[in-house]
Amino acid sequence: QALEELLERWKSRALPRPVQRKKTYGTQEVRRAIELGELLNYYQPKVELATGALRGVEALVRWLHPEDGLVFPEQFIGVAEEHGLIDALTRVVLSQALSQAQRWRAEGLTPRIAVNVSMENLRRLDFADFVASEVERHGLMPSDLILEVTESRLMQDAPNALDVLTRLRLKRFSLSIDDFGTGHSSLVQLRNIPFDELKIDQGFVHGAGQDNTRGAIFEASLNIARQLGMTSVAEGVEDAADWAYLLAAGCDLAQGYFIARPMPGHALPAWQADWQGR
Ligand code: C2E
Ligand code: CA
Ligand code: CA
Ligand code: CA
Repeated sequence: QALEELLERWKSRALPRPVQRKKTYGTQEVRRAIELGELLNYYQPKVELATGALRGVEALVRWLHPEDGLVFPEQFIGVAEEHGLIDALTRVVLSQALSQAQRWRAEGLTPRIAVNVSMENLRRLDFADFVASEVERHGLMPSDLILEVTESRLMQDAPNALDVLTRLRLKRFSLSIDDFGTGHSSLVQLRNIPFDELKIDQGFVHGAGQDNTRGAIFEASLNIARQLGMTSVAEGVEDAADWAYLLAAGCDLAQGYFIARPMPGHALPAWQADWQGR
């Protein structure tokens, strides 16, 4: 497949990504943060390019550190994954997101909720049952939830992952492949996993209209989403030029600072009113 070949070629000359040099935390500190309830989800809207309508929100966890202030996930997710804390962390994030979804419903907002899932979460064969019982406990439907899994981690040899993803899909949860373009999945592998949504990595979105390399990867990714019948989402939409480019390209949904920064749950109704008025 020519398309696939093109994508592979561009991928191998990976674009430079910003380097963040920030403090990372130790296992005990992260464990305490989870136990003491210091984790708080922020939420970032996903909107439809054609209409601007709010379609979903992605839960992005933050740590409200008593001394250091707002700590970003890059500084503690890796530690949680490596030291057996990610199941507890995902549980907190999921249950917070579902409670927030109930509150939004009371205010007339019904965005689909996206939660990031680590490969380590997919080792447990009972993960799908756990998610199903949480969603039911909050009076929501499986179709209200999307689980995002990062492409680069997905193709690593992960015991049970494919099995657990299939179980989730059979329970009618939606699956999203995150940071697409940064991993090395082939069309054949993608066909074997029942994804509903493909999120094109922000490295190929912002400035795609002005940069041929980005534009080529972006369009190859969009074509893969189309070929496999998945909803396409562009991440990292930072300005009006990005938006215009994506709209013309026929991408389905957009997420990024141009639309909204991640925000605490209570801020969503005011953002939505403001966004609709634009
Ligand atoms: P991600 O899932 O790819 O999430 C998108 C990241 O891009 C978020 O960073 C978001 O704030 C940022 N972003 C959104 N719009 C823009 C934009 O227009 N420009 C730029 N430059 N960046 C934008 P954040 O919140 O720091 O999260 C980083 C990563 O941490 C996430 O990447 C995800 O992989 C991971 N993460 C976040 N929350 C969780 C969680 O609850 N569980 C797990 N396992 N991972 C999480
Ligand atoms: Ca994500
Ligand atoms: Ca992403
Ligand atoms: Ca990412």
